[in-house]
Amino acid sequence: MDRKILLIYTGGTIGMKENPDTLLLEPFDFNQILQEVPELRKFGFQIDSLSFDPVIDSSDARPEFWVSLAEIIRDRYDDYCGFVILHGTDTMAYSASALSFMLENLEKPVIFTGSQLPIGMLRTDGKENLIDSLELAAARDKDGHPYVSEVCIYFETELFRGNRTTKYSAENFSAFCSPNYPSLAQVGTHIKYNTQALYHPAEWGKPLLLHTRLDPRVAVLKLFPGITETFVRAVLSTEGLRAVVLETFGSGNAPSAPWFLKVLSEFTASGGIVVNITQCQTGTVDMGTYANGDTLRQAGVVCGKDMTTEAAVTKLFVLLGQYSDNKTVGIKMEIGVSGEISKK
Ligand code: ASP
Repeated sequence: MDRKILLIYTGGTIGMKENPDTLLLEPFDFNQILQEVPELRKFGFQIDSLSFDPVIDSSDARPEFWVSLAEIIRDRYDDYCGFVILHGTDTMAYSASALSFMLENLEKPVIFTGSQLPIGMLRTDGKENLIDSLELAAARDKDGHPYVSEVCIYFETELFRGNRTTKYSAENFSAFCSPNYPSLAQVGTHIKYNTQALYHPAEWGKPLLLHTRLDPRVAVLKLFPGITETFVRAVLSTEGLRAVVLETFGSGNAPSAPWFLKVLSEFTASGGIVVNITQCQTGTVDMGTYANGDTLRQAGVVCGKDMTTEAAVTKLFVLLGQYSDNKTVGIKMEIGVSGEISKK
């Protein structure tokens, strides 16, 4: 068999089934996946599986977990034509974003999926998500290249770019959206690939590069009317803090109060990075639109454009791990490195 896919189980709802005695949901032995999903035998390619031990609820995901995932992919990169990662939905968008920045020169599909109902339940969405993800990970175009050569999230008929995605529903089967970037493929009776939106390497055959030094000295600060100086100062004076993702209003606006700009300016003057992203679901930060946004620029704030919070946070982790100099990181935060920012 020329095509082999590696299925990596990390935890989350998808891998649960009901204990018939206690009626409680418990993780099932992933080595028994074929018993739970016998349909997997029908694929015309080999599927190997590997389970984290212990498996985690994705609320417990940490940078070390992303490093383990990235290393699994690196170590088996030449043996498989694609990777499907079963993951809890709660922080899936963070993990997919992190891996998109950690795996440089990726040319193979890395598809995260999960489910809202456990795979062991009758009405589960997990089987369809798993089967479709495997199909997408194995698909090749007429030249033999993978259709998908980037980190994605597949959920409920849609394939999204991982670092553009966010979880928006705690109960719908359609739990993820990609507010500022079109879906990469839609699965119906046929699979429709959006070839314009999919990433295609300019040249094939570059070696995979791994970035596994992550620096989590990052904070997220969401603005709200009435936010106080004491609170903002407390966040920015967190010991060792190197960067703040500032979730602003609309197209990148913030209070015009002199204390606010002073606190931000003090932080940036001492070398800290402040990245401006919007609280809005769609659209972009444009710090030249309103006077309030323009003063942020003068306070040394960097424009995060239309990055999601998940992308901004994990990109900072990776860049701060790579560069000790905050200035370089600030400059790179404004430039798309893995398709996370829309080109104008
Ligand atoms: N709490 C679970 C997790 O994220 C929820 C899920 O899998 O959907 O691991």
